[in-house]
Amino acid sequence: MPRPVTITDVKTILTAPNGIRLVVVKVYTSEPGLYGLGCATFTQRALAVATAIEKYLCPFVTGRDVDRIEDIYQACNLSGYWRSGPVLNNALSGIDQALWDIKAKRAGMPLYQLFGGKCREAVPVYVHASGETFGAVEESARAYLEQGFRHVRCQVAIPGFSTYGNRSMNSFGALNLSQTRTWEATPYVTTAPRLFAHLRQALGDEVELLHDVHERVPAIQAVWLAKALEEYRLFFLEDLLAPEDLDYFRMVRQQTATPLAMGELFVNQAEYVPLIRERLIDFIRVHISDIGGLTPARKLAAFCEFLGVRTAFHGPGDVSPVGHAANMHLDLAIPNFGIQELALFRDETREVFPGCPEVHD
Ligand code: MG
Repeated sequence: MPRPVTITDVKTILTAPNGIRLVVVKVYTSEPGLYGLGCATFTQRALAVATAIEKYLCPFVTGRDVDRIEDIYQACNLSGYWRSGPVLNNALSGIDQALWDIKAKRAGMPLYQLFGGKCREAVPVYVHASGETFGAVEESARAYLEQGFRHVRCQVAIPGFSTYGNRSMNSFGALNLSQTRTWEATPYVTTAPRLFAHLRQALGDEVELLHDVHERVPAIQAVWLAKALEEYRLFFLEDLLAPEDLDYFRMVRQQTATPLAMGELFVNQAEYVPLIRERLIDFIRVHISDIGGLTPARKLAAFCEFLGVRTAFHGPGDVSPVGHAANMHLDLAIPNFGIQELALFRDETREVFPGCPEVHD
């Protein structure tokens, strides 16, 4: 029997080409020149992830057979006794995605082939339109539609208040222009339906419109908002409730048919399995590295398939191009793919990561 190819070292690469901290893992092997890359980006706690990899997972996986991805995933996941959480899951994802990368390289195939092959020719993506006024959001959305995009997430500023997702915010919702504005739920939940009334009237029925609540609204106001938006036929309403308020999804489901996407903060199957099993959401929206990598994401997607839930993996600026490529290989291969959030990479990022995923119409 040939000797197995084994892991010889694991390095973490910390980089921030556009001011967003990215964590990439490089797994080296006993075969000269053969290595794998994985995304372990938890941008808000990047050094904690790097420590978990360098001090704990690297010694734990060194010497293991690179082919045994499932076994390594299970062993790493249980090796600290206490498991889960964004730090440990991201560390594990870096190793897991790198091992899938190595397996695909050894097979001489794109990774989606190892996942069963393509279910579609390309991955439809959605983009972010935002603005200070309804007219500005409309203009931003129109520009994307003219480029060939068909799915647009729309967010608008709330005059006099802080909000999430308009252009005065950075990609994580932090204020850039005014540090003095406060967040108020009522102006937000009353403005959002008026925005979508404007957009449907202006853009017609064909465009698919999305909106992100970003877990910010008190639960009962979130129920009200989902009902108020129903008539505008969203493609989905994202992260309507905080992970602490999940029981309210039953109430939302009983009262409205607004499609629901949930889960970019989820890190544990105990959070998402009940929502899927009870068919309380329509799209699973996890951040793949935050749940532990491609190995758990494939199982999650298969579980969702049986229950009529589609995927909408998280993919904004705090996913490295390595992670975005992993998203897209999975997106190509799963039958219940829904939509992929697009990460547009700037020139600085392209310089650091040659071979970034591309968008074509
Ligand atoms: Mg979101």
